[in-house]
Amino acid sequence: MNLSRSLKVADEAGMMQLGAALVEAMGSSHQGVIYLRGDLGAGKTTLVRGLLRSLGVQGAVKSPTYTIVEPYELPGWNIYHFDLYRLSDPEELEYIGIRDYFGQDRLCLIEWPEQGAGTVPDADIELHIAHQNEGREVSVIARSAWGEQIMAGLNLK
Ligand code: ADP
Ligand code: MG
Repeated sequence: MNLSRSLKVADEAGMMQLGAALVEAMGSSHQGVIYLRGDLGAGKTTLVRGLLRSLGVQGAVKSPTYTIVEPYELPGWNIYHFDLYRLSDPEELEYIGIRDYFGQDRLCLIEWPEQGAGTVPDADIELHIAHQNEGREVSVIARSAWGEQIMAGLNLK
C-alpha cells in the first residue's frame, strides 16, 4: 500500500488544521496507528495538538519525551501519543506495557516510530514532515486500507 500525497503547510495554524482534518477524515472509525516522522522541530507535536484540540482537549499538549506515552481518554476515543525519541532500545517499550496501548479501539500517534522498530505496530498512515522555507512540506502515505480511506476523505484547502 503506497498511496501518497504531498502538501505545503505554511504555518503552525495550518499544521493544527491538518491534525483536525485527519480526525474529520476518520469519521466514526476511532482506531489506527499514525507515524509522525521528521526532525526535531519539524512540527509533529503541533499536528497532534491540532488533532486533540479539534476533539476538545484543552491545556498543554507536549511531546511525552520523558514519559514515552501520554494517554487521552475521551468520550468514544482512547488516544495515545507516543514520543520514542529518548528510547534507547525498543525492548524498553515492553516494560511500560506497550502491548496494552495497541488494540482495536485505540488511535496511536507515534513520534520517532523508528526508535521502536520491531515493537510498535505497523502504521495505517505515515506523515513525513520536512522544513520548506519558513513552512513545512508534509507527505502523507497510506499504509493500509484504512489509511487509504482516510486519505481519500482528507479535506484540505
Ligand atoms: P516536533 O514535535 O516535530 O519536534 P513541534 O511540533 O514541537 O516539533 O514544532 C516545532 C516548531 O515548529 C513550533 O514552534 C511550531 O510552531 C513550528 N511549526 C509547526 N508546524 C509549522 C509549519 N507548518 N510551518 C512553520 N512552523 C511550524
Ligand atoms: Mg515532538
